[in-house]
Amino acid sequence: MAEYTMTIDGKAVKGSKTVGVINPATGKVFAQVPDCTRAELDQAMDAAKRAFPSWSRSLDARRKVLNDLAGALMQPPEGLARSLTLEQGKPLAKAGQEVMGAAMWCSYTASLELKPEIIQDTPQSHVEIRRKPLGVVAAITPWNYPLMLGIWKIAPALLAGNTVVIKPSPYTPITTLMLGEILRGIVPPGVVNVVSGGDDLGAWMTTHKVPRKVSFTGSVETGKKVAAAAAPDLKRVTLELGGNDAAIVLSDVKTDEVAQKIFWGAFENSGQICSAIKRVYVPEQMYEPMLNKLGELAKNVKVGDGLAEGTELGPINNQMQFERVTELVEDAKKHGAKIVTGGARLGSQGYFYQPTVVGNISDGVRLVDEEQFGPALPVIPYKDVDDAVRRANATTYGLSGSVWSSNADKAAEVAAQLECGSAWVNQHLAIAPNLPFGGAKWSGIGVENGPWGLLGFTEIQVVNVSKN
Ligand code: NAD
Repeated sequence: MAEYTMTIDGKAVKGSKTVGVINPATGKVFAQVPDCTRAELDQAMDAAKRAFPSWSRSLDARRKVLNDLAGALMQPPEGLARSLTLEQGKPLAKAGQEVMGAAMWCSYTASLELKPEIIQDTPQSHVEIRRKPLGVVAAITPWNYPLMLGIWKIAPALLAGNTVVIKPSPYTPITTLMLGEILRGIVPPGVVNVVSGGDDLGAWMTTHKVPRKVSFTGSVETGKKVAAAAAPDLKRVTLELGGNDAAIVLSDVKTDEVAQKIFWGAFENSGQICSAIKRVYVPEQMYEPMLNKLGELAKNVKVGDGLAEGTELGPINNQMQFERVTELVEDAKKHGAKIVTGGARLGSQGYFYQPTVVGNISDGVRLVDEEQFGPALPVIPYKDVDDAVRRANATTYGLSGSVWSSNADKAAEVAAQLECGSAWVNQHLAIAPNLPFGGAKWSGIGVENGPWGLLGFTEIQVVNVSKN
């Protein structure tokens, strides 16, 4: 069985304890990874703290390192994408795209500037704003896009001059540990430390005295715990949390064309995307055709082991999430919902669930009100657009949302009324390295990506020089 190591102070660390990682396509343990102890975490934090002063000195050197990392990810070590499929479940081609996406994000971040901003330059005074790094960043990631979301934190944290201790989800630690192996040959010792372990390890990181910032991606529930844990030490936090994105279809769309796009906006990565479409509002007069088309698409999609040729959707990542999706669909059935397609487990091993489209359902049922984070989509009829917007906004979530129409201007006006961080028109999941991504309300605090995300890893310093 393959074994993986943590990266602490530039060295491979086997760890004094190990824990198994399950392949969601089989439900069986396929690898062992270190289960980081408190003492090992202390070593990682100390290494990051010691590495900070020299690392924060030269922006050019940091930019070069990020470009080297981007280059290394563009020619990834054999087995990186395959390991992502084995631990996460996604189809191998999609795993390859995630690796390339991580490389692209890294390369884009390397190109960002952190120039001082001159506010005043007169015979009396020179005033400029500088952006200083914070120190050590504790980065904590979830299991849906482990490599990509890890790079979203590591790359800007490093460019800004911070050092990092990162912990992936216990469900998907392997690709982040492999990223650590790559980084050992690229960054100076201690600049990026990769530790693996369970939820306790995350909690230890957020209360540890060394980090000055916690950059967290995960559920709302855990995000609140992270915010509370960071508060006594006034650590800075960026929280990228869950979503319950609504797609609002206007009555002038072409059903088949829009259904196809909405389907993939909801089911990509088996629905395990924070900003996937989680509920669809459709005008009453076109409800049946839209529901049936979405059902047909769900029926025809190829679900299977991510390593098998032709697989379009993999399993749900873990048993807990599998049980949650099952529970929400069963609850919808009890409330009289119609299962157009799916609605049950697929096969007898692993965590496969049939792509599921649910009709005759409305707000007030858990599948609509809560984040399902899996392959089950509720489709809800509406009478007038204002009411659809009101229902889309009647939630504590506010990550993203979309409006669909053959009149893009009209749709943009409706989209602007959505209470969320990204409002899309005739598309969903339009996430890019140069655009800020973050949530309104309980979907998060702060943003990632673009210059805005980079600034989140800095603190302002005003340098005010009197010339008198
Ligand atoms: P989770 O909150 O259970 O876990 C996320 C990470 O936090 C894991 O590494 C976990 O070990 C760690 N953790 C758990 N308890 C902790 C604690 N008390 N203190 C510190 N760390 C702790 O989330 P998940 O199930 O891994 O991921 C799914 C969730 O993530 C969904 O809600 C999804 O919407 C959200 N998500 C958000 C974004 C975004 O950018 N907004 C992106 C991807 C996923």
